[in-house]
Amino acid sequence: QSQELSQAQIDYHAALQALVEDGTRMVCTGRMHTDRICRFESLCYSTEAEEFVYFHSNSSVMLPNLGSRRFQPALLDLSSVEDHNTQYFNFVELPAAALKFMPKPVFVPDVALIANRFNPDNLMHVFHDDLLPIYYTMQQFSDLDLEARLFFMEGWSEGVHFDLYKLLSNKQPLLREQLKTLGRLLCFTKSYVGLSKITTWYQYGFVQPQGPKANILVSGNEIRQFSKFMTQKLNVSLEESSSEEYIVVFSRTINRLILNEAELILALAQEFQMKTITVSLEEHSFSDIVRLISNASMLVSMHGAQLVMSLFLPRGATVVELFPYAINPEHYTPYKTLATLPGMDLQYIAWQNTDREDTVTYPDRPWDQGGIAHLDKAEQERIIKSTEVPRHLCCRNPEWLFRAYQDTKVNIPSLIHVIRQTVKSKPGPKKQKWSGSLYPGKVRDAKCQASVQGTSEAKLAVSWQIPWNLKYLKVREVKYEVWIQEQGENTYMPYILSHQNHTFSENIKPFTIYLVWIRCIFNKNLLGPFADVLLCST
Ligand code: UDP
Repeated sequence: QSQELSQAQIDYHAALQALVEDGTRMVCTGRMHTDRICRFESLCYSTEAEEFVYFHSNSSVMLPNLGSRRFQPALLDLSSVEDHNTQYFNFVELPAAALKFMPKPVFVPDVALIANRFNPDNLMHVFHDDLLPIYYTMQQFSDLDLEARLFFMEGWSEGVHFDLYKLLSNKQPLLREQLKTLGRLLCFTKSYVGLSKITTWYQYGFVQPQGPKANILVSGNEIRQFSKFMTQKLNVSLEESSSEEYIVVFSRTINRLILNEAELILALAQEFQMKTITVSLEEHSFSDIVRLISNASMLVSMHGAQLVMSLFLPRGATVVELFPYAINPEHYTPYKTLATLPGMDLQYIAWQNTDREDTVTYPDRPWDQGGIAHLDKAEQERIIKSTEVPRHLCCRNPEWLFRAYQDTKVNIPSLIHVIRQTVKSKPGPKKQKWSGSLYPGKVRDAKCQASVQGTSEAKLAVSWQIPWNLKYLKVREVKYEVWIQEQGENTYMPYILSHQNHTFSENIKPFTIYLVWIRCIFNKNLLGPFADVLLCST
């Protein structure tokens, strides 16, 4: 990967003239700073001021043109974490004429994606906040192809997982520190600023306790396409037909340990009659871990960032997440949410240590490794006595850190019991046939015919045609939902029907107008759209 910016591709004088005459042009998508991504031509960056610069000229464009709302609180989020006040992007404005008095610009010829990594030392954050959002931001804009260059502006050094970021493009990603070596005023010929949040599924608890995002917009399909891309880029060969099934225990070696790992491995191997292996980030290469997880039937691990690797598991596999004492699995669900995304097709099981005897605490460690010695005695005592960490905000809650960094002796019978409640026979990649969840279209040609019997009884015969897409699909079960609502009333009578016509006589009054809503349902839970409402007068 080439580190230098190739100036050969640039006609310097033409580029400079264009910058002076045309200035900066910006057009963004998104209505709010939290969903905005901006495309720029001739966006510059002063490595001395450490600020982006927008040059005004006769041809410059700024959309949205927010005036001072651009600072309330920012133009956009540079990282994929929503509205984090350390991750805002903005620029300083200058007239293009000021260029005469400024350092000679150095032009960046590559199409650039400019963003912040959120926490490049933590594997969960690397995948969830950076790699997936970068990958799908690049899919959104066609000139962000493999020849695009990533610029990471958060100010961190490469970090332990930098090799993963390098897989996303053929050009070496550049860090904020490195920009200084390129020049005093950098000008990006074409750039995109900001990251798509469309693939993120978890919020870390900055404003409310952590949990799944309120409106998840990603499915297992997109996660798996990303995993496939990464697997290919890592040159991992997937032996599709390798027949031996096995369990992977993903262990941590520094903290939050499983104290009886050997016993655990033996027990799993015996219970499921499968080879059981351990991997760890310390002892295995990333490619080896991906290769092993990609063919595993079950992944067992302590709660922790390494569990994000379950996005490499094959469909049908089982994720078993172990929680230390006093940590309620329902309150920490980044990996449960991932595993249970629709179409991820993983089974998720949580086990918690509920036995004080089986936990080892570290009150005397530094605070960031869960030590509590710095707290006053009463607070220390309260924490030690407590049987569950109350819900809390990110990121420095000492009670949470104290419990999160316990080591655990896993109670084997209890764990096997919990797994067995879900995994009845052998775990593992079922060669299940694709049961993609496609939704029905609207029912068609809906009609109604009323008949009145006497002064108090009436009937409503309603019929419709199947949704247009059904004739191309194999659907296990097709049902129709019909709502009958008297005009002007708030309530309605719901019916679930198997046929394409039905005569309603219950509660149907003569000389009344009814609104009839009809939709198709595939396989019990795939609800289609309602067809245009039908007006029926008895
Ligand atoms: N980590 C590891 N082995 C360990 C402890 C941590 O590989 O024994 C990794 C972990 O997977 C994560 C990073 O180090 O990528 C930071 O771990 P931390 O405990 O801070 O975060 P958590 O795993 O709780 O998200």
